[in-house]
Amino acid sequence: MDKRIPRKEGFIMYKCPHANLCFLLETDDILLILKKIIKKMYCNKNFDKCSRYQLYLQGKIVPKNLLPNAKECLTIK
Ligand code: SF4
Repeated sequence: MDKRIPRKEGFIMYKCPHANLCFLLETDDILLILKKIIKKMYCNKNFDKCSRYQLYLQGKIVPKNLLPNAKECLTIK
């Protein structure tokens, strides 16, 4: 499936390539509203700014409770 997103500015940005693998999007341990905000602010727009994505790129283990802003999600154990 093509994950390119047309932008007003005329360039193309891709959705996060790890969206299908990301624990954060799968878990029920975070509020649905938080998940929607994460998708809007990172997964579908600025995934290159996501701390989880950056660790994926470095080949490092991504902690389950790591939020895109590098904070710890306290509801995920
Ligand atoms: S939370 Fe980060 S790593 Fe996970 S799908 Fe969204 S942008 Fe990608």
